[in-house]
Amino acid sequence: MDFQLTEEQLMLKKMVHDLAEKEFRPRAAEWEAKAEHMPLSYLKKLAELGLMGLSLPVKYGGQGRSAFEAVIAIEELARISSMCAAPVFESNVGPVKVIEQFGTEEQKQKYLPPVCRGESLISIGMTEPEAGSALTDLSTRAVLDGDHYIVNGQKRFCTGGGESNAYMVYVRLGEQKGAKGIGGLIIEKGTPGFSFGKQEQLMGLRGMPSCDLIFDNCHVPRENLVVKEGEFRKLMLAFDLERCGNATMCLGIAQGALEEAIAYSQSRRQWGKDICEFQAVQFMLADMALRVEAARLLIYRATVNAATGLPAPFEANLAKCFANQMAREVTGLALQVHGGYGYSKEYPVERMMRDAWGWGLAGGTIEIQKVTIASLLLRRRFDQRR
Ligand SMILES: Cc1cc2nc3c(=O)[nH]c(=O)nc-3n(C[C@H](O)[C@H](O)[C@H](O)COP(=O)(O)OP(=O)(O)OC[C@H]3O[C@@H](n4cnc5c(N)ncnc54)[C@H](O)[C@@H]3O)c2cc1C
Repeated sequence: MDFQLTEEQLMLKKMVHDLAEKEFRPRAAEWEAKAEHMPLSYLKKLAELGLMGLSLPVKYGGQGRSAFEAVIAIEELARISSMCAAPVFESNVGPVKVIEQFGTEEQKQKYLPPVCRGESLISIGMTEPEAGSALTDLSTRAVLDGDHYIVNGQKRFCTGGGESNAYMVYVRLGEQKGAKGIGGLIIEKGTPGFSFGKQEQLMGLRGMPSCDLIFDNCHVPRENLVVKEGEFRKLMLAFDLERCGNATMCLGIAQGALEEAIAYSQSRRQWGKDICEFQAVQFMLADMALRVEAARLLIYRATVNAATGLPAPFEANLAKCFANQMAREVTGLALQVHGGYGYSKEYPVERMMRDAWGWGLAGGTIEIQKVTIASLLLRRRFDQRR
């Protein structure tokens, strides 16, 4: 077991770190305050640096690097803001992975290269108004009619909604209830019968688009089917990589918050000395570091073991669940170290705290992660309906 980054990985980390400091640190607070979406020109920049599709195969325009290396890049960007890391997240651990792992050759040729060029983003539509944690209750229906599926239904809280060019939509393909009837279909923006709800005003992660996807007799070509009925497990396996990305967003936020707290504690003076000289403040810093480093190890293990494929469900769920809780706690401590100023929008830690909260909801709540972890430990499924 080797805990050292290779020379190449260190170079990648430094390159993304410098980019984040130069391009994103000066702008992140303003984008968040105005809930503005990151200008699309930045996608091109990220693509030129090879960060879009970093872990996608070279054959489709990616860099052929590992999931772990994608995580290194996402963490460096998320230190500044989740919004700045979002395109790299989407293009490496998002639904593109479902296409890369399970799509047809034609689908890969069509959808992956534009993502790597920074010309396209793909989002995921799973959640519905009546199917959140109980995802397998989803009712968006896709009925085959000749060479098209006719899709009806509504998706909620789609990150990237309205802006992304294509959507991996979880649909019910047959009469079978629960997971058995669910598959995944790519639905492109602009397809007749596909529209968007209003943009959500969320507590955090502002600047990342989010809205409903509405399908009203939407005609989707038959060849857009990626995962067929009965293969719901494939969607979940690919989603475990997205969970590692979600955990990395938390890691980045928490690392950023720790750095803010360390700097502040050495500049703020009370009682005639720097507040870092008080043991209570030192303990807060130490508690933050303990949690950040533990989350980092869980994330690194899950993604190093995934190599260029998908992570083990147990490792991915542990990493996400721990990192989700950790980021809420660490940003709370960072705010506390800042005293009243932490509660002010003049300092970034209140934004970090609001952003951190969202990741423990997105991609399956902390509670649902625990249900999954317990089920994997006990090697039993627990029917939540009975
Ligand atoms: C910032 C953000 C981004 C998101 N991005 C996307 C996206 O891109 N695509 C997408 O499809 N969805 C997305 N979501 C939706 C997200 O996946 C759901 O919000 C989440 O799965 C929870 O569903 P819900 O909100 O309906 O809550 P509910 O399922 O109604 O849960 C409410 C509460 O009950 C608890 N609960 C429910 N069932 C159980 C149980 N069996 N045991 C214990 N506790 C339980 C939950 O943990 C929670 O605390 C996003 C959400 C957020 C906040």
